[in-house]
Amino acid sequence: MNITEIAVPGYERVARAEDPERGFTALIAVHDTTLGPALGGLRIWKYASVAEAQVDVLRLARGMTYKSAVARTGLGGGKAVIVGDARKDKSDALLSWMGRFIDSFAGRYITAEDVGTSVLDLDVIARETRHVAGRAREVGGSGDPSPWTALGTFVSMEAALLHQTGSAAFRGRKVAIQGMGHVGYWLARHLAEAGAQLLVADLDPARVERVVKEFAATAVPPDQILGAECDVLAPCALGAVLNDRTLPNLRCKVVCGAANNQLAEDRHGLLLKERGILYAPDYVVNAGGILNISVELAPGGYDSAQAEQKVRGIAQSLKGVLDRAQREGIPTARAADLEAQTLLAAARGKARAAS
Ligand code: NAD
Repeated sequence: MNITEIAVPGYERVARAEDPERGFTALIAVHDTTLGPALGGLRIWKYASVAEAQVDVLRLARGMTYKSAVARTGLGGGKAVIVGDARKDKSDALLSWMGRFIDSFAGRYITAEDVGTSVLDLDVIARETRHVAGRAREVGGSGDPSPWTALGTFVSMEAALLHQTGSAAFRGRKVAIQGMGHVGYWLARHLAEAGAQLLVADLDPARVERVVKEFAATAVPPDQILGAECDVLAPCALGAVLNDRTLPNLRCKVVCGAANNQLAEDRHGLLLKERGILYAPDYVVNAGGILNISVELAPGGYDSAQAEQKVRGIAQSLKGVLDRAQREGIPTARAADLEAQTLLAAARGKARAAS
C-alpha cells in the first residue's frame, strides 16, 4: 500500500492510500481530535476524480468535528472515502486493504458505516483493525442508529416548538414528514404517541401505507409535502431541500428533520430567518446516531440507558444554539457553527493550560 501524506491547513492529518495494481484509491481525513479521537463513517462513492473525493472527505470530516462538538460526544471529526462504485467495486479484498489503511492511524481515526458501506462491511474491516464503531449488537456494538436519530429529532422538535411558540406539546399540531425510511418511520411513531397529526410522503407507496395504517397518518404526494401547511416540516429523505425553488412555498413555523445538509446554500438559512421560520440545524438535530456510537466507545461498553440519556440531551444542545441565534440576531445554522467553534476553542485553551 502506497500512503501519501497531504498537507491541508486546518486539518491534523490527511492521507491518500493507493494500490495501483488492484486499482484501489482511498483517502482519510482527520480534521480535529481536540475533543477525542476522530470518528466518521467510510463512504464508497463514484467520484469523478481523486481531487473530487478529496474535497468531499475534507468537507465531511470538518462536519463531523462540528457535529460531535455540539452534541458533546467526546469525539473529534474525521472521515474516510474510497473512490469506487459500491455495487461493483466493493470486495473483501478492498475492505481488508481499507482496514489496514485505517489501522495505520493507530486509533486517531475510528471508522463507521456511511453511504456505500454496511454493518457487514464493518465486520470485514474489523478483521484488520479494532478502530471500528457502530457494529451490530451481537458483536458488542451499538446496533442500528436510526431509532436513536429519530429520538434525537423528536426531542429537537419539542425544543424548537417551545422556542418558536412557547409550547412543546404536539396535541393538535400538524407535522409533515418527507421520507418514511429508517428514521422517518421511528420519528412518526414518537410523534403519533405524543398526539401529533401526521402528514407523510415517500416515493415508496408501501412505506407510506404502513404509517397511514399504524399511526392514522395522512398521505401527501411527494411533490407536495414540502409545501404542506403544518406546524413542523421534517425533512427525512434528501439533502438540499431548502432551496430557492422550495423556500417560497413553505407553510410551516419550524423546519426540524434528520436529513443531512438540508440548506442548499448557507444563504438559505438567512432566508428562512427572514421568513420567520425557525430552522433547527440538521447536524445538531440528527446527532442521535453518533451519540449512540459514542456510548459503544466508552470504557464500560455499550449501554442503551446511557445512550437514551445522551440522545435526549440533544434538546439542551439545540436550545443553546437557538438561544445564541436569537441573542446574536444570526441564522441558526451560523449559531451552530459558532457554538462548535466556541467549544473547540475552550477545550484547546484548557489543554494548553494543563500542559
Ligand atoms: P432511508 O434511505 O432509510 O430513508 C429515506 C426515505 O426517503 C426512503 O424511504 C426514500 O424512498 C425516501 N425518499 C427519497 N426521496 C424522496 C422524496 N423526494 N420524497 C419523499 N420521500 C423520498 O434513510 P434514513 O436512514 O431514514 O435517513 C434519512 C435521512 O437522515 C438521510 O438524509 C440521512 O442521511 C439522514 N441521517 C440518517 C441517520 C440515521 O441514523 N439513519 C443519521 C443521521 C442522518
